Amino acid sequence: MVSFLDLSKVNNRFRNEIDAKFKEILDKGWYLQGEENARFTQDFAAYCGAKYCVGVANGLDALSLLIRASDFGPGDEIIVPANTYIATILAISQQGCTPVLAEPSLETYNLDVDRLEALITPKTRAIMVVHLYGQAVQMQKVWELAEKYQLKVFEDCAQAHGAYYEDRRVGSLSDGAAFSFYPGKNLGCLGDGGAVVTNDEALYEKVKALANYGSDYKYHHIYKGVNSRLDELQAAVLEIKLKHLDEDNQRRREIASFYRHEIHNPLLILPKTYAEKSHVWHVFTLRTEQRDRLCAYLNERGIQTNIHYPIPPHQQLAYQEWQHLHYPNSEEIHRTIMSIPMSPVLTEQEIVQVVDALNAYQG
Ligand SMILES: *Cc1c(COP(=O)(O)O)cnc(C)c1O
Repeated sequence: MVSFLDLSKVNNRFRNEIDAKFKEILDKGWYLQGEENARFTQDFAAYCGAKYCVGVANGLDALSLLIRASDFGPGDEIIVPANTYIATILAISQQGCTPVLAEPSLETYNLDVDRLEALITPKTRAIMVVHLYGQAVQMQKVWELAEKYQLKVFEDCAQAHGAYYEDRRVGSLSDGAAFSFYPGKNLGCLGDGGAVVTNDEALYEKVKALANYGSDYKYHHIYKGVNSRLDELQAAVLEIKLKHLDEDNQRRREIASFYRHEIHNPLLILPKTYAEKSHVWHVFTLRTEQRDRLCAYLNERGIQTNIHYPIPPHQQLAYQEWQHLHYPNSEEIHRTIMSIPMSPVLTEQEIVQVVDALNAYQG
């Protein structure tokens, strides 16, 4: 069987190091806000090419804290891609802001930057880009609009740890960035985890305080904060795995390149990328008119598939107020997209098996 993502295989590569670290932490008896968190957040900021990082409980909290710390709330509009994972949109709603959905490009599945300006109103405060499926958004146009209309730019980097836009990594391309370390992400821990990364010292201090009961120092509370922390065990695992992230992303690129060169089937639309290092292939997508049939065909041959994502956010029950709206590109993507196995632990034999099955598929 070709597993979609074999997480035990992914993490067992680091078993000895993780075992030793867990023993050390158990012996020490310090579980939160300690050395592991300090070391990882410092190293992760440096990895992204940014100054500051706050470890938080998950990616949704990272997004939410970023918006809250920027003092956005009711009445403020934030532009966000219509085809993102629901978490990006939920974070905007959670802070009482209005998400304004922007159509993606059918070429990159990222924001269609040429359609952004038409969405800007006097209430627009920020553009939240999402480096979806692992591919960095082409930021130049976003920066120009932000400058012209005095908007903040945020990044949702949950799927793109390590991806580059030109010579800079995602996480350092905006006023503030949110990361998730959910187990299946390119950099994943053994449970939930997330981070806010920024070059803005004031934003950093505020996110750090908000995430820790609104406290700037012990028992002193300056905001009505929340409890959202990255614990020592997770930070330690992430520190171990961070050292191998570039290697893992390189392996994903090799697999993606193999898929893109070897899959020849007129029934399938393969993903496009504009620069080798701009993509870290969190997932490898295909588009086809025959999604259900193709998924069933692959599953019968022992190849697991997935759909990122089957229902567009504006058609979810949670956002019933948007059910009359239409985003044709987003709807087209959600109707036709599917994902095939992608991870740094796939073997040559497995990727050949996937390619052979796809090439033999006749509809
Ligand atoms: C995974 C993900 C999130 C949310 O991360 P969690 O850690 O699960 O809260 C947000 N945005 C995108 C694009 C994601 O893929």
